[in-house]
Amino acid sequence: MRSLPRRPLNVLAGVCLAVLSGAAPAAAQFAYRPAGELVTGSGSGRVDERVYAPGIRYPIQDAPSFLNSQVWGVGGNSGPSGSQCAARNFSYPWHDNFCESRSWDMPLCPSGTGHQGQDIRASSCMPNVHPALAVADGTITNVGSYSVYLTTADGTRFDYLHMGRVAVAVGDTVRRGELMGYVSNEFGGTATTVHLHFNIRQSVSGVGSVFVPPYMSLVRAYEALVAPPVAPTPRFRGEFVRQSFPLASASFEMTPGQILSGSIDLRNTGTETWRPGQTFLGTTQPRDRASVLAGPGWPNDHRAASVAGDVPPGMVGSFVFTVRAPGTPGEYRQFFSLVEDGVTWFGDDGGPPDDQLQIRVTVVPGAQASDAGSETMPLDAGDAPPDPDASTDRSLSAAGCGCRAAGGRAAFGGLGVTLGALALLVTRRRRASRGSHARARTP
Ligand SMILES: [Zn+2]
Repeated sequence: MRSLPRRPLNVLAGVCLAVLSGAAPAAAQFAYRPAGELVTGSGSGRVDERVYAPGIRYPIQDAPSFLNSQVWGVGGNSGPSGSQCAARNFSYPWHDNFCESRSWDMPLCPSGTGHQGQDIRASSCMPNVHPALAVADGTITNVGSYSVYLTTADGTRFDYLHMGRVAVAVGDTVRRGELMGYVSNEFGGTATTVHLHFNIRQSVSGVGSVFVPPYMSLVRAYEALVAPPVAPTPRFRGEFVRQSFPLASASFEMTPGQILSGSIDLRNTGTETWRPGQTFLGTTQPRDRASVLAGPGWPNDHRAASVAGDVPPGMVGSFVFTVRAPGTPGEYRQFFSLVEDGVTWFGDDGGPPDDQLQIRVTVVPGAQASDAGSETMPLDAGDAPPDPDASTDRSLSAAGCGCRAAGGRAAFGGLGVTLGALALLVTRRRRASRGSHARARTP
């Protein structure tokens, strides 16, 4: 079952890996070290998973982008010798450097001092080519020789340092995603490395207006930037689990007009609870008039059964009902789908109407069917001869696997429906693509 309530997040041996399949190749292996873990020797970090600025846009336009220290990275003052353009500086995992050793007053850092914000590299060390964007709607409240402040309506201040080609002026109002400038190395005359230094300043209860850890806010913003869209779990969705109707076999025979009882169980894979009298197994071909297989006890001509009891998300519900075999020789097929009365029809595959649960009945001309009469001649369920082969296990096996072969209905031909027999089978088909949206049909 593919369920996508959250993006995948694997925590392995202390390394947080956000697996982002489908993203740009360079972003496919996005990984980040935990918040508060600084490069060894660079200070004592603040372990703080809080997202201080939820919902912000990532401050650099494009992925990949890399959070790590300018000072402790390759080519930095305290880092390994080499070029600031070394590939190692442009690779995952990310590293927090909010509390990296500096002399700035930093009440939230263990030492009381720190770096104020986070160093961010774009996809390359080329200056003035990678756009830096507004992370939120706000007003430009400062443009200095190498710093730009963006202040939002709630008082949060976002600081962009070292940009080139600054595109905003004090007093400008900007919208989230709007161009602020370009990632560069401006430092008031003396160049620094090419990166964006990014601060978040907020009022923290009991502390006052301080620089807060931006790391997890940036992680979340980056995930939103590079992750494929995640479809929300639909409110109504079901997944076939098992059924108890006997399947076709050489030894299984029924009298035309006979009535069979059984059940189909489905798991609720949506987000809404199924309730008796509201959630039904409905007939979809047609659903506006009586089903040829409708048996005693159906709520109406196109509702085979109500769910037997409340079925919260994740649980399995039973739909217990009867079918009455038509008396006229021929092949009968009834498709089913779930229906939330007055809301929606739904299944688990998002496919066309025939791509669902179905019961197929074949009545071949034979002695028993010669004058079976109309469909209105009811027979007792007790008239059915026992079927030694109609075990639940076989039903599960055939329904779960045998009918999923390519070609769909053609697969039924191999199940050995015999002359003179009424063969009934319940099965389902799945499409290769397991779409997850409820059908948009009107109940
Ligand atoms: Zn910095």
